[in-house]
Amino acid sequence: MCRSIAGFLRQGVSPGKLIRGSAAVLLTVVLASCGLSEEQSELPQAVVLVQPAVPVSISEPVVHNPDESQGSEPRMVLRSVISRDKYLPEQVDFINKLLRFKKTVTVLNEVEEGPLFDPDTQEIWMPGSFADVIESYFGTRNAPVADVYLHTLIHEVGHVLYSQYDMPLLAREEDAADALASVLLLEYVEDGARVVLNAAEMFGLESERFERQEEPDFWSEHSLDIQRFHTTLCHVYGSDPEAHADLLDAENGLTQARAQSCQYEYERIRKGWLGILKPYLKR
Ligand SMILES: [Zn+2]
Repeated sequence: MCRSIAGFLRQGVSPGKLIRGSAAVLLTVVLASCGLSEEQSELPQAVVLVQPAVPVSISEPVVHNPDESQGSEPRMVLRSVISRDKYLPEQVDFINKLLRFKKTVTVLNEVEEGPLFDPDTQEIWMPGSFADVIESYFGTRNAPVADVYLHTLIHEVGHVLYSQYDMPLLAREEDAADALASVLLLEYVEDGARVVLNAAEMFGLESERFERQEEPDFWSEHSLDIQRFHTTLCHVYGSDPEAHADLLDAENGLTQARAQSCQYEYERIRKGWLGILKPYLKR
């Protein structure tokens, strides 16, 4: 639980600049609360499922009830786990405790490409090499790999849900999938803000690959990495402006102008996703 922030700070924080303020606070809180030194904090991170602080009440679900076949309930199944990604079983378990699927989804780890979701095969590819990529961006063996994996896995689950259920899509699916990751982590995972902040930092670091954007970047179905960085920060800030006031800092990139709408923005995506998912949420 403490690993990522400790590792994050050890390298003096990064180019993505995120969390410089928040990490200082979090380091104290996280390490103190765990009673661990940085060297002891190498264990895989546990995903602790909690109830949302604010219940969502939606009068009518906007989707039909899923096919609830008794006995063999469709679920997320993990296949071919390589040893370095030992946290994946727990993360898949977290998803299964939270969400109901219409079709079985298979997560593959021994693959070369990804992360991706293939709607034809209902497979999520989470390649072991992704851990190398994360470590190379953070520049440390103590990179928050488990956090970025969990955020990415939930993002792919967003695509799974759109492929399985006839849910309304009001803007780009990629942005909606990022929003789902923010909402589920912030609402259902203990210390989920840390996970989301580490995922945001990964976007920030990825954006630094480019000195300038080229035309093909603007054709991507994803928002630009730097936009994903800022929007994800906005979600965390909007979920609890008091607790995350340290993000409101020019160095962290969250401007006053954007911050003013973050609370509204987060509340809209929270109500939107939890409302749409109501028939499919197990808790
Ligand atoms: Zn995607």
